[in-house]
Amino acid sequence: MLPIEPFRADLADLAAAAQDEVASLLSGVTSRRAAERMLTEALPDIVSVYGDAAGALAADWYDEVRSALEVPGRFRAVAGELPDVGRTDSLAEWATRPLADDPSTIDTVITRAQGGTQRIVMNVGRDTVTYSAVHDPSARGWQRAGAGECNFCKMLIGRGAVYRAETADFGAHDHCKCIAVPAWGGRPVPVKPFAGSARGVSDAEQARVHNWMLAHT
Ligand SMILES: [Zn+2]
Repeated sequence: MLPIEPFRADLADLAAAAQDEVASLLSGVTSRRAAERMLTEALPDIVSVYGDAAGALAADWYDEVRSALEVPGRFRAVAGELPDVGRTDSLAEWATRPLADDPSTIDTVITRAQGGTQRIVMNVGRDTVTYSAVHDPSARGWQRAGAGECNFCKMLIGRGAVYRAETADFGAHDHCKCIAVPAWGGRPVPVKPFAGSARGVSDAEQARVHNWMLAHT
């Protein structure tokens, strides 16, 4: 079996370290202008430090697991890329909006900025695995793995689908701790489908997952 949880924890730790930097950057800030300027200046560095680390971590993990499982054929994982500066600029703009009307909303602003930062860092790790698993001749594709902390993720993980299209979108959201893991040919899939208990899941959430599946698989 794939050592999924240690890898997921390591990626989450990198994202959490990036989130800590965002929080200390914004502590005590009360004006939107200042907050947006600080984020616009600092986020590219923060996501590049932790995002590159996430890409390297994911590529090493992929190669190590592939070799340990004696997957046939030669292939080396390709680390995912960072988004361009437009992504962090728009995060800075969106995250700081609440401060325009109310200086006491800094906690909301921090949560927003942390969520977007966390998503960017995790996405570099996810992209590493999804790209590699689509291009690895011995892989069948990738699966979503995680603890299912929200209903959207719980339902997607429960499908146990193997995505093989290069265009398949991960469907991440801010603060999501799900990761992608490779499914190699001739072996049991790493994430087993489970009978989806839709209990506690609203119709709207089920529709969201259904629509996402239609659009992305
Ligand atoms: Zn998730």
